[in-house]
Amino acid sequence: LISELAKRKRTRVYLVGGVVRDLILGFPNYDLDLVVEGDAIEFASFVAQKLEAKLVTYQPFGTASLFVGERKRRIDFASARQEFYAYPGAPPQVEHSNLRRDLFRRDFTINAMAISIYPDDWGELFDFFGGFKDLQKKLIRVLHPLSFVEDPARAIRAVRFEKKYGFQIEPFTMSLLKQTVREGLLAKIKPDRLKEEIQLILRLPGFYSYLQRLYQLDMFPYLFPGCVWKSDYDILYPRLERLIQEEASTERLDFFLLKMTPLLSDIQFDSLEAFVERLHLSKRFYSQVKTYLGRRTVLERILQEKTSPPSRVFEVCSEIPLEFLYFTLAKFHDQDLARERIRNYLTKWRFVKPELTGSDLKQLGIPQGPIYAKILRELQKARIDNLVYSREEEIALAIK
Ligand code: ATP
Repeated sequence: LISELAKRKRTRVYLVGGVVRDLILGFPNYDLDLVVEGDAIEFASFVAQKLEAKLVTYQPFGTASLFVGERKRRIDFASARQEFYAYPGAPPQVEHSNLRRDLFRRDFTINAMAISIYPDDWGELFDFFGGFKDLQKKLIRVLHPLSFVEDPARAIRAVRFEKKYGFQIEPFTMSLLKQTVREGLLAKIKPDRLKEEIQLILRLPGFYSYLQRLYQLDMFPYLFPGCVWKSDYDILYPRLERLIQEEASTERLDFFLLKMTPLLSDIQFDSLEAFVERLHLSKRFYSQVKTYLGRRTVLERILQEKTSPPSRVFEVCSEIPLEFLYFTLAKFHDQDLARERIRNYLTKWRFVKPELTGSDLKQLGIPQGPIYAKILRELQKARIDNLVYSREEEIALAIK
């Protein structure tokens, strides 16, 4: 349909970037990126009208997004740069020069191909930089030697594509990447941009192997200040990932924090502030890590001490952010007592409620005040320890 509309408007339109790469590889990819040789906003508005789709435009960038169909699938439109227009009958090297220039701004050859969806040459692959050959050879290659200097975040992207597709970073590209790291250029990546790239990694299966690769390539000091990769993560991280998939997926958790817990559990406390700043994380994030680091020793002792009553475990667990409890569960995977205690906390104890409520306490003639919360908490603990079984026993304890 877009193809027909392109013909009606005499506007050349191409599928570009990751979707072309994935089409050739046979990978699923539903991010449709289109490049328009002409005004992308005008063309997207025309398409939106005909398809009755929702349109969002970004005037300063000359781009637009359409949300199509019941599932509101997104299609992005961008303009190929318009420094000069290809004119009818132009010699071949000038033809498609706008498209070529657009593709030349991209990160790697495998991401710099386009497929025409214009009826006259529908399906034709435009591959100016050898992307197709690199896909066949499984190589990640920059388009020019200054690529990483232009945008050092591409170094992280190189690692993502390398691992995700099982490709290799081509030797010259690798030498440029290492030089970029050595020269400290990664420090120039803006925090929000950095966070986005890391989030893209954290969403992938086996995300930790990407983190390990970033470490191997000496990128950690610029990405995760104060963190290193430790050999026990090789066992810990796969366990954590399994827990996330099997048990934590329905929890309301900060998945960024959760997936970073192993690194953060070993961070030098002095570096925590720098870490939070580097990735533009929240104050809440900072205080959650700080709480964990401050309470970890007590938590681990209580979990392992045979004499700790359930209510004591409950007390200490309830102070710790859930993300770190899942981490501790992975860490104590081989220790039955500690593991079962955390499991009990996560699945049972934190949901235990006393039968009595605030209004019951009022009826019992207990003067209102902060004491209510304290009594209800004591009742909850007594329930967890199986010290009370009935409403009457709760009343007796509350009065005491
Ligand atoms: P994935 O499907 O795994 O997200 P993708 O290639 O679609 O991969 P995006 O981040 O969505 O990744 O980017 C879309 C396209 O935009 C890329 O294929 C690439 O052509 C271009 N691109 C993205 N980031 C950069 C960058 N930092 N420098 C140059 N080009 C980029």
